[in-house]
Amino acid sequence: MAATAPITESETETETEPLSYAEFLARVPKVELHCHFPGAVFAATAIELAAKNGTELPTDDPNELYRYTTITGFLTALQAVSKTLVEREDFARVAYETLADGVRTGNLRYREMFFNPDYHSPQGATYETVVEGIGDGIRRAHAEFGVRCNLIAAMSRYHGPDAAVALVETVLAHPHELVIGVGMDDLTPEGKEAPELFVEAYTLANEHGLNTTAHVGEIDGSTAHDVLIALDVLGVDRIDHGYRILGDPTVVKRARDERVHFTTCPHSSVWLYDFTFEEHPIRQMFLQGLRIGLNTDDPPFFDTDLGKEFVVGAARMGFEPEQVAQLCMNAVEGCWLPEPEKDALREEFRRDIDALTARLR
Ligand SMILES: [Zn+2]
Repeated sequence: MAATAPITESETETETEPLSYAEFLARVPKVELHCHFPGAVFAATAIELAAKNGTELPTDDPNELYRYTTITGFLTALQAVSKTLVEREDFARVAYETLADGVRTGNLRYREMFFNPDYHSPQGATYETVVEGIGDGIRRAHAEFGVRCNLIAAMSRYHGPDAAVALVETVLAHPHELVIGVGMDDLTPEGKEAPELFVEAYTLANEHGLNTTAHVGEIDGSTAHDVLIALDVLGVDRIDHGYRILGDPTVVKRARDERVHFTTCPHSSVWLYDFTFEEHPIRQMFLQGLRIGLNTDDPPFFDTDLGKEFVVGAARMGFEPEQVAQLCMNAVEGCWLPEPEKDALREEFRRDIDALTARLR
Protein backbone atom coordinates (compact mmCIF):
# COMPACT_ATOMS: atom_id res chain seq x y z
CA MET A 1 0.00 0.00 0.00
CA ALA A 2 2.76 2.42 0.88
CA ALA A 3 4.87 3.94 -1.85
CA THR A 4 7.46 5.33 0.52
CA ALA A 5 9.48 4.62 3.65
CA PRO A 6 7.91 5.06 7.08
CA ILE A 7 8.07 8.51 8.59
CA THR A 8 8.14 9.48 12.24
CA GLU A 9 7.17 12.87 13.49
CA SER A 10 10.50 14.04 14.83
CA GLU A 11 13.05 12.65 12.41
CA THR A 12 12.94 15.62 10.03
CA GLU A 13 14.35 17.86 12.73
CA THR A 14 17.26 15.70 13.84
CA GLU A 15 18.59 13.85 10.81
CA THR A 16 21.35 15.30 8.70
CA GLU A 17 22.15 12.80 5.93
CA PRO A 18 21.38 13.77 2.31
CA LEU A 19 17.92 13.18 0.90
CA SER A 20 16.93 12.12 -2.61
CA TYR A 21 14.18 14.17 -4.24
CA ALA A 22 11.71 11.31 -3.75
CA GLU A 23 12.52 11.23 -0.02
CA PHE A 24 12.14 15.00 0.14
CA LEU A 25 8.73 14.81 -1.57
CA ALA A 26 7.51 12.10 0.80
CA ARG A 27 8.78 13.85 3.91
CA VAL A 28 7.77 17.48 3.46
CA PRO A 29 5.04 18.13 6.06
CA LYS A 30 1.54 18.14 4.61
CA VAL A 31 -1.96 19.47 5.17
CA GLU A 32 -4.61 17.65 3.19
CA LEU A 33 -7.95 19.32 2.43
CA HIS A 34 -9.54 16.90 -0.02
CA CYS A 35 -9.91 13.28 1.07
CA HIS A 36 -13.23 11.44 1.32
CA PHE A 37 -13.78 9.17 4.31
CA PRO A 38 -15.83 6.58 2.32
CA GLY A 39 -13.16 6.70 -0.38
CA ALA A 40 -10.39 6.05 2.14
CA VAL A 41 -11.44 2.52 3.17
CA PHE A 42 -8.72 -0.02 2.40
CA ALA A 43 -9.98 -2.99 0.37
CA ALA A 44 -8.92 -5.52 3.00
CA THR A 45 -10.74 -3.52 5.70
CA ALA A 46 -13.93 -3.32 3.61
CA ILE A 47 -13.88 -7.07 3.12
CA GLU A 48 -13.43 -7.71 6.85
CA LEU A 49 -16.21 -5.26 7.74
CA ALA A 50 -18.55 -6.82 5.16
CA ALA A 51 -18.01 -10.24 6.75
CA LYS A 52 -18.50 -8.82 10.26
CA ASN A 53 -21.67 -6.91 9.41
CA GLY A 54 -23.17 -9.33 6.89
CA THR A 55 -23.14 -6.89 3.98
CA GLU A 56 -22.55 -7.76 0.32
CA LEU A 57 -19.50 -6.84 -1.73
CA PRO A 58 -18.99 -7.82 -5.38
CA THR A 59 -15.84 -9.78 -4.40
CA ASP A 60 -14.00 -10.91 -1.27
CA ASP A 61 -10.61 -10.56 -2.99
CA PRO A 62 -8.89 -7.33 -1.86
CA ASN A 63 -6.90 -7.29 -5.09
CA GLU A 64 -10.08 -7.22 -7.17
CA LEU A 65 -12.38 -4.93 -5.18
CA TYR A 66 -10.95 -1.68 -6.56
CA ARG A 67 -10.20 -3.00 -10.02
CA TYR A 68 -12.61 -1.13 -12.33
CA THR A 69 -12.17 0.76 -15.57
CA THR A 70 -15.05 3.25 -15.63
CA ILE A 71 -16.35 6.03 -13.38
CA THR A 72 -19.53 3.99 -12.95
CA GLY A 73 -17.42 1.09 -11.70
CA PHE A 74 -15.70 3.42 -9.24
CA LEU A 75 -18.99 4.86 -7.94
CA THR A 76 -20.53 1.38 -7.63
CA ALA A 77 -17.56 0.18 -5.58
CA LEU A 78 -17.70 3.34 -3.42
CA GLN A 79 -21.38 2.78 -2.63
CA ALA A 80 -20.86 -0.93 -1.89
CA VAL A 81 -17.93 -0.21 0.43
CA SER A 82 -19.86 2.55 2.25
CA LYS A 83 -22.50 -0.05 3.15
CA THR A 84 -19.95 -2.20 4.99
CA LEU A 85 -19.63 0.45 7.74
CA VAL A 86 -22.39 0.06 10.33
CA GLU A 87 -21.16 0.32 13.91
CA ARG A 88 -19.32 3.12 15.66
CA GLU A 89 -16.16 0.99 15.88
CA ASP A 90 -16.20 0.50 12.08
CA PHE A 91 -16.01 4.25 11.50
CA ALA A 92 -13.28 4.54 14.13
CA ARG A 93 -11.19 1.84 12.46
CA VAL A 94 -11.37 3.39 9.00
CA ALA A 95 -10.59 6.90 10.28
CA TYR A 96 -7.60 5.62 12.23
CA GLU A 97 -6.25 3.55 9.32
CA THR A 98 -6.48 6.33 6.74
CA LEU A 99 -4.84 8.92 9.00
CA ALA A 100 -2.07 6.46 9.92
CA ASP A 101 -1.49 5.87 6.19
CA GLY A 102 -1.28 9.62 5.53
CA VAL A 103 1.33 9.97 8.28
CA ARG A 104 3.30 6.92 7.16
CA THR A 105 3.39 7.65 3.43
CA GLY A 106 3.32 11.45 3.32
CA ASN A 107 4.06 13.00 6.73
CA LEU A 108 0.47 14.19 7.14
CA ARG A 109 0.12 16.73 9.95
CA TYR A 110 -3.48 17.93 9.52
CA ARG A 111 -6.44 16.88 7.38
CA GLU A 112 -9.93 18.24 6.74
CA MET A 113 -11.81 15.11 5.64
CA PHE A 114 -15.15 14.80 3.88
CA PHE A 115 -17.72 12.35 5.17
CA ASN A 116 -21.14 11.56 3.67
CA PRO A 117 -23.72 10.81 6.38
CA ASP A 118 -26.31 9.92 3.70
CA TYR A 119 -24.15 7.01 2.48
CA HIS A 120 -24.41 5.28 5.85
CA SER A 121 -27.95 6.07 7.01
CA PRO A 122 -29.59 3.25 4.94
CA GLN A 123 -27.58 0.76 7.03
CA GLY A 124 -28.89 2.37 10.22
CA ALA A 125 -25.81 4.36 11.22
CA THR A 126 -27.07 7.66 12.61
CA TYR A 127 -25.30 10.97 12.08
CA GLU A 128 -24.09 10.81 15.69
CA THR A 129 -22.73 7.26 15.25
CA VAL A 130 -20.82 8.29 12.14
CA VAL A 131 -19.34 11.44 13.67
CA GLU A 132 -18.53 9.88 17.05
CA GLY A 133 -17.01 6.83 15.42
CA ILE A 134 -14.80 8.85 13.08
CA GLY A 135 -13.95 11.03 16.09
CA ASP A 136 -12.74 7.96 18.02
CA GLY A 137 -10.40 7.08 15.14
CA ILE A 138 -9.15 10.66 14.88
CA ARG A 139 -8.36 10.77 18.62
CA ARG A 140 -6.47 7.47 18.45
CA ALA A 141 -4.42 8.62 15.44
CA HIS A 142 -3.68 11.91 17.17
CA ALA A 143 -2.54 10.14 20.33
CA GLU A 144 -0.22 7.82 18.38
CA PHE A 145 1.12 10.09 15.64
CA GLY A 146 0.28 13.67 16.59
CA VAL A 147 -1.75 14.04 13.37
CA ARG A 148 -4.91 16.14 13.57
CA CYS A 149 -8.15 16.03 11.60
CA ASN A 150 -11.44 17.91 11.33
CA LEU A 151 -14.49 16.97 9.28
CA ILE A 152 -16.52 18.36 6.39
CA ALA A 153 -20.06 17.01 6.02
CA ALA A 154 -20.56 16.36 2.30
CA MET A 155 -23.85 16.72 0.48
CA SER A 156 -24.28 14.25 -2.34
CA ARG A 157 -25.57 15.90 -5.51
CA TYR A 158 -27.11 12.58 -6.47
CA HIS A 159 -29.63 12.87 -3.62
CA GLY A 160 -30.77 16.32 -4.76
CA PRO A 161 -31.23 19.83 -3.31
CA ASP A 162 -33.77 18.86 -0.61
CA ALA A 163 -31.46 16.21 0.85
CA ALA A 164 -28.65 18.79 0.78
CA VAL A 165 -30.73 21.22 2.86
CA ALA A 166 -31.66 18.37 5.21
CA LEU A 167 -27.98 17.51 5.68
CA VAL A 168 -27.06 21.10 6.56
CA GLU A 169 -29.99 21.13 9.02
CA THR A 170 -28.67 17.91 10.59
CA VAL A 171 -25.18 19.39 10.95
CA LEU A 172 -26.63 22.51 12.58
CA ALA A 173 -28.90 20.48 14.88
CA HIS A 174 -25.97 18.34 16.12
CA PRO A 175 -23.06 20.75 16.56
CA HIS A 176 -19.78 18.88 16.99
CA GLU A 177 -16.32 20.34 17.48
CA LEU A 178 -14.88 18.20 14.68
CA VAL A 179 -17.43 19.16 12.03
CA ILE A 180 -16.27 22.56 10.82
CA GLY A 181 -17.83 22.87 7.39
CA VAL A 182 -19.92 21.44 4.58
CA GLY A 183 -19.04 20.43 1.05
CA MET A 184 -20.66 18.84 -1.98
CA ASP A 185 -19.57 15.92 -4.13
CA ASP A 186 -20.97 13.28 -6.46
CA LEU A 187 -23.02 14.19 -9.57
CA THR A 188 -26.70 14.80 -10.19
CA PRO A 189 -28.67 11.79 -11.55
CA GLU A 190 -28.15 13.44 -14.97
CA GLY A 191 -24.36 13.28 -14.45
CA LYS A 192 -23.91 17.03 -13.99
CA GLU A 193 -22.34 19.35 -11.41
CA ALA A 194 -25.16 21.96 -11.59
CA PRO A 195 -23.94 23.92 -8.53
CA GLU A 196 -26.79 26.46 -8.87
CA LEU A 197 -29.32 23.83 -7.74
CA PHE A 198 -27.85 23.79 -4.24
CA VAL A 199 -28.02 27.48 -3.35
CA GLU A 200 -30.53 26.97 -0.53
CA ALA A 201 -28.29 24.52 1.34
CA TYR A 202 -25.24 26.79 0.98
CA THR A 203 -27.16 29.89 2.02
CA LEU A 204 -28.25 28.08 5.19
CA ALA A 205 -24.71 26.89 5.91
CA ASN A 206 -23.19 30.34 5.33
CA GLU A 207 -25.85 32.06 7.45
CA HIS A 208 -24.89 29.82 10.37
CA GLY A 209 -21.16 30.37 10.06
CA LEU A 210 -20.15 26.98 8.66
CA ASN A 211 -17.14 26.90 6.34
CA THR A 212 -18.15 25.90 2.82
CA THR A 213 -16.53 24.27 -0.19
CA ALA A 214 -17.78 22.49 -3.32
CA HIS A 215 -16.55 20.10 -6.01
CA VAL A 216 -16.87 22.13 -9.23
CA GLY A 217 -15.05 22.59 -12.51
CA GLU A 218 -13.97 18.98 -12.31
CA ILE A 219 -15.80 16.78 -14.80
CA ASP A 220 -15.77 16.77 -18.59
CA GLY A 221 -18.40 19.28 -19.69
CA SER A 222 -18.15 21.55 -16.65
CA THR A 223 -16.69 25.03 -17.15
CA ALA A 224 -15.08 28.03 -15.46
CA HIS A 225 -18.63 29.35 -15.15
CA ASP A 226 -19.40 26.57 -12.64
CA VAL A 227 -16.47 27.79 -10.54
CA LEU A 228 -17.90 31.31 -10.74
CA ILE A 229 -21.32 30.10 -9.60
CA ALA A 230 -19.76 28.32 -6.63
CA LEU A 231 -17.96 31.53 -5.63
CA ASP A 232 -20.75 34.04 -6.30
CA VAL A 233 -24.00 32.12 -5.85
CA LEU A 234 -23.06 29.42 -3.34
CA GLY A 235 -20.56 31.70 -1.58
CA VAL A 236 -17.97 28.98 -0.95
CA ASP A 237 -14.65 29.58 0.84
CA ARG A 238 -12.68 27.29 -1.46
CA ILE A 239 -12.99 25.06 -4.54
CA ASP A 240 -12.43 21.30 -4.82
CA HIS A 241 -10.73 20.38 -8.13
CA GLY A 242 -11.64 23.38 -10.36
CA TYR A 243 -9.47 22.33 -13.34
CA ARG A 244 -11.92 23.72 -15.91
CA ILE A 245 -11.28 27.26 -14.64
CA LEU A 246 -8.44 27.39 -17.20
CA GLY A 247 -11.06 27.80 -19.94
CA ASP A 248 -11.70 31.41 -18.92
CA PRO A 249 -8.76 33.75 -18.15
CA THR A 250 -11.07 36.30 -16.49
CA VAL A 251 -12.17 33.74 -13.89
CA VAL A 252 -8.54 32.68 -13.38
CA LYS A 253 -7.63 36.32 -12.72
CA ARG A 254 -10.53 36.74 -10.32
CA ALA A 255 -9.56 33.60 -8.33
CA ARG A 256 -5.91 34.63 -8.31
CA ASP A 257 -6.70 38.17 -7.13
CA GLU A 258 -8.97 36.84 -4.36
CA ARG A 259 -6.52 34.09 -3.40
CA VAL A 260 -9.15 31.36 -3.70
CA HIS A 261 -7.77 27.99 -2.61
CA PHE A 262 -8.16 24.96 -4.92
CA THR A 263 -7.87 21.43 -3.52
CA THR A 264 -6.54 19.51 -6.52
CA CYS A 265 -6.07 15.74 -6.85
CA PRO A 266 -3.41 14.46 -9.29
CA HIS A 267 -4.07 10.72 -9.40
CA SER A 268 -7.88 10.71 -9.36
CA SER A 269 -8.03 13.31 -12.13
CA VAL A 270 -5.54 11.45 -14.33
CA TRP A 271 -7.56 8.27 -13.77
CA LEU A 272 -10.96 9.86 -14.45
CA TYR A 273 -10.22 12.37 -17.21
CA ASP A 274 -8.14 12.86 -20.29
CA PHE A 275 -5.20 14.40 -18.39
CA THR A 276 -1.57 13.31 -18.15
CA PHE A 277 0.79 14.15 -15.31
CA GLU A 278 3.17 15.78 -17.79
CA GLU A 279 0.52 18.19 -19.14
CA HIS A 280 -1.80 18.49 -16.21
CA PRO A 281 -4.13 21.46 -15.54
CA ILE A 282 -2.85 21.41 -11.94
CA ARG A 283 0.56 22.51 -13.20
CA GLN A 284 -1.00 25.22 -15.35
CA MET A 285 -3.14 26.44 -12.46
CA PHE A 286 -0.01 26.75 -10.33
CA LEU A 287 1.97 28.55 -13.05
CA GLN A 288 -0.91 30.99 -13.54
CA GLY A 289 -0.66 31.97 -9.89
CA LEU A 290 -3.65 30.12 -8.47
CA ARG A 291 -3.34 28.91 -4.90
CA ILE A 292 -3.47 25.13 -5.08
CA GLY A 293 -2.57 22.15 -2.90
CA LEU A 294 -2.21 18.44 -3.70
CA ASN A 295 -4.58 15.84 -2.25
CA THR A 296 -5.52 12.16 -2.49
CA ASP A 297 -9.33 12.36 -3.05
CA ASP A 298 -10.17 8.62 -2.61
CA PRO A 299 -6.72 7.12 -2.09
CA PRO A 300 -7.10 3.30 -2.26
CA PHE A 301 -9.79 3.60 -4.93
CA PHE A 302 -7.28 5.28 -7.25
CA ASP A 303 -4.28 3.27 -6.10
CA THR A 304 -2.65 6.26 -4.46
CA ASP A 305 -1.63 7.65 -1.07
CA LEU A 306 -0.44 11.01 0.21
CA GLY A 307 3.22 10.18 -0.39
CA LYS A 308 2.53 9.04 -3.95
CA GLU A 309 0.67 12.26 -4.84
CA PHE A 310 3.99 14.02 -4.29
CA VAL A 311 6.63 11.37 -5.07
CA VAL A 312 4.90 10.45 -8.33
CA GLY A 313 2.37 13.24 -8.93
CA ALA A 314 4.37 16.37 -8.08
CA ALA A 315 7.56 14.92 -9.60
CA ARG A 316 5.95 13.94 -12.91
CA MET A 317 4.13 17.29 -13.12
CA GLY A 318 7.54 18.95 -12.94
CA PHE A 319 7.37 20.70 -9.56
CA GLU A 320 10.75 21.92 -8.28
CA PRO A 321 11.63 21.85 -4.54
CA GLU A 322 10.72 25.49 -3.88
CA GLN A 323 7.44 25.00 -5.75
CA VAL A 324 6.67 21.93 -3.63
CA ALA A 325 7.33 24.03 -0.54
CA GLN A 326 4.82 26.52 -1.92
CA LEU A 327 2.22 23.76 -2.45
CA CYS A 328 2.63 22.66 1.17
CA MET A 329 2.39 26.21 2.52
CA ASN A 330 -0.64 26.86 0.28
CA ALA A 331 -2.51 24.02 1.97
CA VAL A 332 -1.79 25.57 5.36
CA GLU A 333 -3.21 28.89 4.09
CA GLY A 334 -6.27 27.15 2.65
CA CYS A 335 -7.24 25.25 5.80
CA TRP A 336 -9.99 26.31 8.20
CA LEU A 337 -8.07 26.21 11.47
CA PRO A 338 -8.38 29.31 13.67
CA GLU A 339 -5.66 31.87 12.94
CA PRO A 340 -3.44 31.18 16.00
CA GLU A 341 -3.34 27.45 15.17
CA LYS A 342 -2.69 28.22 11.52
CA ASP A 343 0.14 30.47 12.52
CA ALA A 344 1.75 27.71 14.59
CA LEU A 345 1.41 25.36 11.62
CA ARG A 346 3.00 27.94 9.28
CA GLU A 347 6.00 28.18 11.60
CA GLU A 348 6.30 24.39 11.99
CA PHE A 349 6.06 23.83 8.22
CA ARG A 350 8.53 26.55 7.35
CA ARG A 351 11.09 25.17 9.84
CA ASP A 352 10.72 21.54 8.70
CA ILE A 353 10.69 22.40 5.00
CA ASP A 354 13.84 24.49 5.39
CA ALA A 355 15.57 21.63 7.24
CA LEU A 356 14.60 19.13 4.55
CA THR A 357 15.57 21.49 1.71
CA ALA A 358 19.03 21.91 3.24
CA ARG A 359 19.52 18.12 3.04
CA LEU A 360 18.54 17.77 -0.63
CA ARG A 361 21.34 16.33 -2.72
ZN1 LIG B 1 -13.39 14.61 -4.23
